Amino acid sequence: MSYRLPMHQRLANALSYNEFRLYYQPVVDLRSGSIIGVEALCRWPQRDDSFAPPETFISQAETSGFIIQLGDWVLRTALDQVRAWERELGHRLNVAVNLSGRQFLHHGLMRSIEDAVRSSGLATDAIEFEITESVAMHNAEDSIGIMRQIKSLGMDLALDDFGTGYSSLAYLKRFPIDKLKIDKAFVRDIPADGNDLAIVSAIISMAHALGLEVQAEGVETAAQAEFLAECGCEYAQGYLYGRALPADDLAALLAASV
Ligand code: C2E
Ligand code: MG
Ligand code: MG
Repeated sequence: MSYRLPMHQRLANALSYNEFRLYYQPVVDLRSGSIIGVEALCRWPQRDDSFAPPETFISQAETSGFIIQLGDWVLRTALDQVRAWERELGHRLNVAVNLSGRQFLHHGLMRSIEDAVRSSGLATDAIEFEITESVAMHNAEDSIGIMRQIKSLGMDLALDDFGTGYSSLAYLKRFPIDKLKIDKAFVRDIPADGNDLAIVSAIISMAHALGLEVQAEGVETAAQAEFLAECGCEYAQGYLYGRALPADDLAALLAASV
């Protein structure tokens, strides 16, 4: 009876039985409207055909330490998949991979990244890592050191869920990051909510002044996309362009978009 097993064991069994799935959500360049990359998002199908909520099982994996193995699987799977798409499509595609706090601070991270890059053959400048601002700020000095190592390999860094954690502007300017991802909580009620309009346009102006690019999450309507594009937001993802999809479905979307 698997539900009696401790969570760590359930997660480990799921990995060894190959139960996890990696889904891919398109990322669109708001200036051209074309898909320039994907964000890899982990899924855990259950026996009743539902999915375990990622926020829950990722945080359980984080607490139990299993995130190190799961994160390594996500990284390898994502890089291999995107390299395969590049070969099929004949053009490059970016991939964003989420790193949890424990994974980010783990001593084996750089080794895991280097191995996944080498075995996939994907160019490092096609790879972006996302960490939340809370993770980055939690141990900011150590974070800066790890970020520099990742940057030195030629990969990009994005601050995920920006605006929802506690962020220090003093650190923000010191982080060697490339992009801010505006949390979907601020995108949801634009253009109706005047406060959200102000917050979103201020985040975009600040990011640009700091030399960073901006990506909006949770873009569901054309009106949201229009406002974001007017503010100069470079990239977007959300149901307007496509949900996170299994690899085959995303491949069909990519083939149709060229
Ligand atoms: P996230 O990295 O901020 O991912 C964006 C979340 O927004 C995803 O939820 C995505 O499905 C959802 N989303 C995308 N477009 C829309 C939209 O238009 N409207 C709305 N309402 N939602 C949208 P998901 O897949 O449930 O993942 C939740 C969180 O779980 C992720 O947030 C990320 O923090 C974490 N996560 C998922 N996969 C991984 C992983 O492989 N590793 C790590 N460390 N964390 C992961
Ligand atoms: Mg993310
Ligand atoms: Mg996010």
